[in-house]
Amino acid sequence: MPGSLKTQGIVLRSLRYGEADRILHLYTPDRGRVSAIAKGVRKTKSRFGGRLEPFFRLNLVLYEGRSELLTVTSAETIAAHPRLREDARALDGAARACEAVARVFDDGDPHAGVYHLLANQLALLDHEPQHATRANALAFRLKLLLAAGFAPHLASCASCGEPEHLVGFSGAAGGVVCGACEAGSFALSQEGHDFLVAALGRPLAEAPDAEPPALQQAERAILETLEHHAHVRLRGVGAR
Ligand SMILES: [Zn+2]
Repeated sequence: MPGSLKTQGIVLRSLRYGEADRILHLYTPDRGRVSAIAKGVRKTKSRFGGRLEPFFRLNLVLYEGRSELLTVTSAETIAAHPRLREDARALDGAARACEAVARVFDDGDPHAGVYHLLANQLALLDHEPQHATRANALAFRLKLLLAAGFAPHLASCASCGEPEHLVGFSGAAGGVVCGACEAGSFALSQEGHDFLVAALGRPLAEAPDAEPPALQQAERAILETLEHHAHVRLRGVGAR
């Protein structure tokens, strides 16, 4: 049924379309990822101003017709995140966060927790750009896995339940594995394991840090979990 949809949304991507239009990929709390067209947005007198750019958090009215593509009829700014655009590392962190959300979820797969996680990450990078570290980017991805229902099993062996002698991580098994179940896993140090546990358990602003080898293991654990459970391959978080 055609009608209007009022929703919050975060702009993940904004693509030029035709002479003056833009196609937006948005993440919304109730609908998940949606695609919408904003007509005339690239004209100087557009009523949308510069609001339909990546990282904007908006109150939106979207017209829903018969097509899968919604039409933006109104957009008000909740948060523009101007400071993160002035810091190269924060900008890169925000871009990677939006890209991860866009790639991990298809249209029509809503997770309200993902929306709030992304809103928190953008607000953090805007208020305190110094948080744009490799550890922060990994903590964001871990929390994304949790919000999507793919959190790795970290408390005991994901294969047999053994609580000690955890020596590896297996994306196929879905978490840490013990010495008896380590086939197909890669070595996970105590520090790497501790980082995964702390990054999942703490707020983003209090994400732990760790030495580069532990962060490297954590990154591999996240990438393998995504590949096995979401069938998505993300690019790395960079060497920050
Ligand atoms: Zn085991």
